[in-house]
Amino acid sequence: MLKISVGFLLGILVGLIFGPSAKMLAPFGDVFLNLLKMIVIPLILFTIIVSVNNANPKELGRIGGKIFPYYIITTAISVFLGIAIAKLISPGLGLELPKGTAIEVPEAPSLLDVLVNIIPTNIFESLTNGDILSIVFIAVITGFSISFMRTSNESHVKASGNLLLKFMDAGSEVTFRILNGILQYAPIGVLGITASTIGGQGFDTLQALAKYVVASYIGVGIQMFIIFTLLLLLFKIPVIKFFIKTREAIMTAFVTSSSLGTLPITIKSAQKAGISDRVANFTLPVGATVNMNGSGIHFGVGVVFAADIIGYDLSIGAIVGIILTGTLAAVGTAGVPGAGLIGMSIVFTQAGLPIEIVGLTAGVNVITDMIFTTCNVTGDLVGAAVVDKSEKKHDSITQESIEESVS
Ligand code: ASP
Repeated sequence: MLKISVGFLLGILVGLIFGPSAKMLAPFGDVFLNLLKMIVIPLILFTIIVSVNNANPKELGRIGGKIFPYYIITTAISVFLGIAIAKLISPGLGLELPKGTAIEVPEAPSLLDVLVNIIPTNIFESLTNGDILSIVFIAVITGFSISFMRTSNESHVKASGNLLLKFMDAGSEVTFRILNGILQYAPIGVLGITASTIGGQGFDTLQALAKYVVASYIGVGIQMFIIFTLLLLLFKIPVIKFFIKTREAIMTAFVTSSSLGTLPITIKSAQKAGISDRVANFTLPVGATVNMNGSGIHFGVGVVFAADIIGYDLSIGAIVGIILTGTLAAVGTAGVPGAGLIGMSIVFTQAGLPIEIVGLTAGVNVITDMIFTTCNVTGDLVGAAVVDKSEKKHDSITQESIEESVS
């Protein structure tokens, strides 16, 4: 990720020194964007099918039934929060994309259309058009069908289910490898995008990006110190003690920009905060992969940034669609540095926003990723603490009723 920042800084320099002629470097950026677009659909398809199979509802039981709604609701709130803060700060206002960038202002879809069109009439059409919500729908039902096949009593159905899962697993593995390769190229791509944009725009772009970073930090601040704090208070968990006990995980997340990389420390911090192992050991690894509150804020801020740039007024229907896609994309975002950029491409594709702007924000991603990851990990810990508290309550009620029936 550091290399991407170097690419970004070099891009700024080249753009400022060479001005409009820096646009010559635009093809390097285009290659990066094409690579991102190329990987998005297989990535969604394979990872969702595999994760649905890993999360067997029977095994997840009661804890899963509590933690998943928590993940979905808090992530949806964070996407909304990102949109709201960015609306107030308007980081992209007044900025234009370099001339020659093809921009189609999308027609605002109605809420009903968004929901009805999730169900595709032709799955191949959805795959070719990149209809992300429909692809997610296809992946989820395929994932569940495979998981039912795997638990079938008929041995040949069971064998086919296992074979299919193996295939999907292999597909997801190869997709991640390709993604790693793409991230190797990212610094050059970011250099190309930044140089050509700054060359055409100059300081306006830098100013806009600075506002984008500020909006992201304010969004995370509100999520951490208002929303998470309220949640802790609601469950009567001492707030200051919680943050003190979990500070190591919070700091590690900030410096590594990786929820997964931080996971061992997150589990340790949960122990220090008195969260029981049976809740922590199950929810934290799942949370590090699916619960991304910071990434949700990222997508919300990013969408408004892009909409401001292209002069697209977000309707209520569009906002609801973005919250929906943003939440799903956050769930699908891997807990590794820079993964949010892929999620953002997914949200932009669905919202019909120019993916070039994802490339533009990639330059400051190293600064924003730190704070988004901090929020992602804190969200996992708050979720574990809240579920643990309700489990302890459940246990003590069960204990009381046992004692009553004995006496
Ligand atoms: N880096 C983030 C994480 O590991 C994911 C993201 O890029 O949004 O939690």
